[in-house]
Amino acid sequence: MMQTTELDKQSIAVPTRAQGLKRLAEFLPRAGKDYQATRNLDLGLGRHSNVSNLSPYIRHRLITEEEVLASVLNEHTEKTAFKFVQEVFWRSYWKGSLEHKGMLWSEYQHKLPWVLETLNKDHSHRRTYDKATAGETDILPFNEWVVELKTTGYLHNHARMWFASVWIFTFKLPWELGADFFLRHLLDGDPASNTLAWRWVAGLHTKDKTYLATATNIRNCSGARYTDSCDFSLGLKRLASCAKPQQENLSPSALQNTPIEWPKPMSCLTSEGENTVLLLTEEDLHTQLPTPVSAVAALTPTPRSPIERTSDGVTNFTQGAIEDALQQLGAETIIDVAPQAMGEDEIVTWAVERKVQQILHAYVPSGPTQLRLQSLAPKLAAKGIKLTAFMRDYDRLIWPHANKGFFQLGKQIPNFLAVMELGHKQGAERSLIGL
Ligand SMILES: Cc1cc2nc3c(=O)[nH]c(=O)nc-3n(C[C@H](O)[C@H](O)[C@H](O)COP(=O)(O)OP(=O)(O)OC[C@H]3O[C@@H](n4cnc5c(N)ncnc54)[C@H](O)[C@@H]3O)c2cc1C
Repeated sequence: MMQTTELDKQSIAVPTRAQGLKRLAEFLPRAGKDYQATRNLDLGLGRHSNVSNLSPYIRHRLITEEEVLASVLNEHTEKTAFKFVQEVFWRSYWKGSLEHKGMLWSEYQHKLPWVLETLNKDHSHRRTYDKATAGETDILPFNEWVVELKTTGYLHNHARMWFASVWIFTFKLPWELGADFFLRHLLDGDPASNTLAWRWVAGLHTKDKTYLATATNIRNCSGARYTDSCDFSLGLKRLASCAKPQQENLSPSALQNTPIEWPKPMSCLTSEGENTVLLLTEEDLHTQLPTPVSAVAALTPTPRSPIERTSDGVTNFTQGAIEDALQQLGAETIIDVAPQAMGEDEIVTWAVERKVQQILHAYVPSGPTQLRLQSLAPKLAAKGIKLTAFMRDYDRLIWPHANKGFFQLGKQIPNFLAVMELGHKQGAERSLIGL
């Protein structure tokens, strides 16, 4: 079993915007050709300087996608940074795509306890699940990924793909439980990127397209880590040799695109004389306030799974990120900022005490936090307080285009960058992309 070292512990992300910006600044010189050439290498725990490690910060919007893109394109041309830019748009694609499938997340979550119950009835499968989640399987690289995931809350993209493939096709465990395990342990655990990437590996996102982890690919993309051991001793001979698309357990309606009315931008939602405050959630901790609000509060972190506890690492990171956002606002503005995050009932009391008429919050996409806001809204309404979502311009620009495959959205990247006035092709017509 791999041992964790001081170096490994240092690679645990610190949940502040300042730390996210520091990471971004350090990574910038490598975001061009270097990233393109080496991004597929997973060099192991504590050795991921070939990729940005920015995902926990972007996930909670301690730093935004737009900030990351702007910094990278300030340093590199669109052509040189193409691969990195494209990866950031993969995130936006998954986010928008899950929004278009308005019922997918809730049905997946609803069925999770049933998937676990079914697994529990089959002792052999249950044992495999326990060994896999404890990192005690016969496949040594898999065990290393489990240790890294649990120690740092991070895995390289390639390790995530291999992990999901081995889980589904070698261990024959349900993708639903693997995705849940990831979500509870990844600092960047995201309902959209995670669920849809697992479904993609399982052959359920792109029809008939699965992802098969092979010994050759794991060896080629893991640096020289395994050169001293043969496939047999690493357990790589046990890998599945084929990957058939998994059976779909979700209903046809969960897979369909549903019509969406995207929320308005923040600036359209305040009217003069109305006492409006801002509510931060872990989904969006960006603290720029384009519209005047009289006070700011934040919602406590939301448990990520209906079947198991969220890891302490994830809860602490999320809690720390929320506190950091509140502290920043407290230091930068003169408005009333709640000293700590609150649960739903405390938020109602806090708003009533301040005679609030409207609470604005950045749109909360599909996921567990959305359910909490759905339960908060009627409690506030009973006190005459409106809860209103606004949508960031970035999301309003990109997400509507995520209703087909990534290829369709990817073709629009130069236009998106032009509308955001990033890169070189400035001044594209807004009408081009339906704004
Ligand atoms: C099974 C599986 C589960 C995943 N679960 C998550 C998840 O819960 N949350 C998450 O943010 N990403 C997830 N990803 C995508 C990807 O693995 C991570 O975003 C990436 O590894 C984060 O590391 P980084 O910041 O160093 O990425 P970099 O390579 O430096 O990329 C820069 C940024 O682009 C975005 N990005 C990069 N690759 C992808 C991708 N393939 N899909 C979506 N966004 C991407 C991330 O925001 C990332 O921070 C998953 C991928 C797989 C295969």
